[in-house]
Order: sequence, then C-alpha cells, then structure tokens
Amino acid sequence: MLVDSHAHLDFVDDLKELLDRANGAGVSKIVTIGTSIECSKKCIEIAEKYSSDDLQIYATCGIHPEDGKADVGKYGDQLMSELGKVAKSSKKVVGIGECGLDYFLDSSGQRPDTSEQEKQFQRKLFGEQIRLAADLDLPLVVHCRNGWGEIFDLISKSQASNSKLCGVFHSWTGNVEAMDKALNLGFYISFSGIVTFKNAKDIQEVARKAPNGQVLVETDSPFLSPESLRGKKNAPENVRIIASFLSKIRNQSFDDIVTATSSCAQKLFNLW
Ligand SMILES: [Zn+2]
Repeated sequence: MLVDSHAHLDFVDDLKELLDRANGAGVSKIVTIGTSIECSKKCIEIAEKYSSDDLQIYATCGIHPEDGKADVGKYGDQLMSELGKVAKSSKKVVGIGECGLDYFLDSSGQRPDTSEQEKQFQRKLFGEQIRLAADLDLPLVVHCRNGWGEIFDLISKSQASNSKLCGVFHSWTGNVEAMDKALNLGFYISFSGIVTFKNAKDIQEVARKAPNGQVLVETDSPFLSPESLRGKKNAPENVRIIASFLSKIRNQSFDDIVTATSSCAQKLFNLW
C-alpha cells in the first residue's frame, strides 16, 4: 500500500470523499503537513478525526519560511515553545516541519530577490526548528528553494551535536550533486509531481540514481499536480501516478517502488 508522505489536507473541503478515493487508489497512509501554529493544530485534528483501519493519517508541526511567517510576529520568543507544545499534544505527530529556506532568485524581474535580511530571518527560524526536532527526537520535513549549500551546512553542523538528526527533503528539485550531499547526511529524498514534468530532466536523473533505501513519494496536494493532470487540483490518490512514473524510469516493478517508498516512510516517520 502507498504512503503519501506530504499532503496539505487542511486545504480540503470534502475530506471524507477525498480520503475514500485515496484509499480506493491504494493509499493506506498520509502525512498531513503543518506550516504554521494554527495549521499544525488543524493537521492534528484531521489526523485524529479521520484516521480509520484502512487509512491512517499522521501530522507534522512546523513553521514554513513563507506561509508561517506571521507567527513570528504573533508569538515572538514563545514561538518554539508553542510549537513544541503543539507537537507534544498528540501521538499523531510524526515530524517537525515543513521548515527550511525559500529563497527567491528571479530572472524575470517580477519579484525582487530575497534580501540578506530575509535570508537571516529564515536561517534563524530553520535553525530553531532543527533544534526542536532534535530535542523531541522527531524527523525534519525540509522545504528548500535555492538554498541548498546553506541548508546542508546548517544540517551538518547540527548533526555534529545531534548525530541522530534525520529528515526528508520534500518535493525534491535539486541536481545529482545536491542528491549526494542529502544522502550523505542520511536524509531521505521525496519526489512529488514535479518529477513527472517534461522539462524536469535534472530531477529525473536524480530519480533514476537515488537508492531504494532513501526514497519517498508525495503529492504536496492540493498543489503540484503531476504532468498528466496539470492545471487540476492535486489529491493524495495521485501519489500512484508518481510511483508509477518512478517505476518506469527506474526500471523497477510498480510493487517494488510501492514497497520501497512505503517502508522508507514508515522508517523515517516511525509510522505504526
Ligand atoms: Zn508542502
């Protein structure tokens, strides 16, 4: 059975119907991802309310560098203790994040590049969540746009004092060189619908080379629909399309991909 390791179920109106469809498509576990304090609480509520024998839902708690930003002003110095409190409030919480670096480097001139001040702010917020994950002995769900060198640096420095620190780079968009670094840190790589895009050659190369023992699949729904459904709202059932794409380009059977990615997700998040 498939695991969708990264979805945003708090965006969904008719959750019951969506979960039935996911289960019908062979999905047995979904991790719904927190991006702010309120969102993290909602994810826990969803995991507690909608889990069933056929489909278990788990939650993560985190402050996203863009979407969770307002919480920094709202909670100030208390933000991490508040996040820790929420994370400890339910057995359904299996990770810290999504958190990380979201740097904008624009070539079209539509939006200015991320300023040094903003970068410092994001580094601090990420560093605090790395420490929280280590304190709570939970894996990190990492979001990275254009900050690879810095993100690897921050993680490897933290591992010097917390050797058990582990996690996943969600919705992978890096090249093979970045993959090697991520794998050397003992982190997992999770492929979303982006890997199926026609122009995603670098990411597909990573998807061919990444070892079975460190690969997850996810939808990041309702965002990032796979190539065949672009423009439509994404849903956890489409994790099947990503697994099937991986099976083709990796030359492995669909069942092997399902087994490998599901056991990686179970191991990383300690799913029961
Ligand atoms: Zn996400």
